[in-house]
Amino acid sequence: MEQQLNDLRQTAMAELQDASDMEKLTEIRVKYLGKKGSLTSLLKGLGSLSPEERPRVGQLVNVVRAAMEEALTAKTEAIKEAALEKRLASEKIDVTLPGRKAAIGHKHPVTLTMNRIKEIFMRMGFSIEEGPEIEQDYFNFEAMNLPKDHPARDMQDSFYITEEFLLRTHTSPVQARTMQKTEPNQPIRIISPGKVFRRDYDATHSPMFHQVEGLVVDKNVSFSDLKGTLEMFVHEMFGDNVGVRLRPSFFPFTEPSAEVDISCVMCHGQGCRVCSGTGWLEILGSGMVHPHVLEMSGYDPNKVSGFAFGMGVERIAMLVYGIDDLRLFYENDLRFLRQF
Ligand SMILES: [Zn+2]
Repeated sequence: MEQQLNDLRQTAMAELQDASDMEKLTEIRVKYLGKKGSLTSLLKGLGSLSPEERPRVGQLVNVVRAAMEEALTAKTEAIKEAALEKRLASEKIDVTLPGRKAAIGHKHPVTLTMNRIKEIFMRMGFSIEEGPEIEQDYFNFEAMNLPKDHPARDMQDSFYITEEFLLRTHTSPVQARTMQKTEPNQPIRIISPGKVFRRDYDATHSPMFHQVEGLVVDKNVSFSDLKGTLEMFVHEMFGDNVGVRLRPSFFPFTEPSAEVDISCVMCHGQGCRVCSGTGWLEILGSGMVHPHVLEMSGYDPNKVSGFAFGMGVERIAMLVYGIDDLRLFYENDLRFLRQF
């Protein structure tokens, strides 16, 4: 049995000497030291030895096991080191190489359009006012001349949180809020950009979209001021050769009211699918502030007058970039977004 142990030790050591990778080492460990390994099976034979021989052979088994463990550990270290050295020798790091730039995103087309609109109006002396997206029914509807039973509320079906609070359907409440916090009859020239919400979803409507509304109140503000301001905006936004047309319309908060059309940017007024063959595209609503709206916010319609307008930012962005489905803005498809 002692002979067997010594033979075992010798073959194991020889195999270990030849091993050159980690897989081979694992194989050797299992073969000799594993649960079903050679050393373990030899150990089972101890029972057949005489009581005098048993301790001596037992001790020898331990010595052989310890020697093999030690040799295995040493070989493992040696293989690891060799691998590292090989890698260091072959891998050359050129510290003079320029670094790789991290990819930086860019602004969303809706944000780009919103910024452009803000910029144009700020150049005309407008300042920016913001308001809450969760709005009181009073500011969203009542202060805009839309009492509780007004049929025009149906055009702006919304998401109610309670009977008194809702997600605002337009940024118009900012107009009422601004008038109420300004000294009565003091001049106002603001735009209010932001998110608004309605119960709509199709190729040209989204339950959340962006609006920019404007309000000018001062002494002797006339309809021609409204027309001049909006013409200026259209020409800055779409170019000088774009035609502008005002069409009579109805909004509860303005009187008189007008829809503003521009000559079709796709067909230049010839008539195409985008403009339904009319040669014109509706881009915003506007009008002279209703005297009742001025009164409700503490202004005297006999002393001051004003005009207001509102536009959907997505609508403008679709025309500027030639996009035919509004839902593309919110699908987060990088192939679409990378084009801007
Ligand atoms: Zn057209």
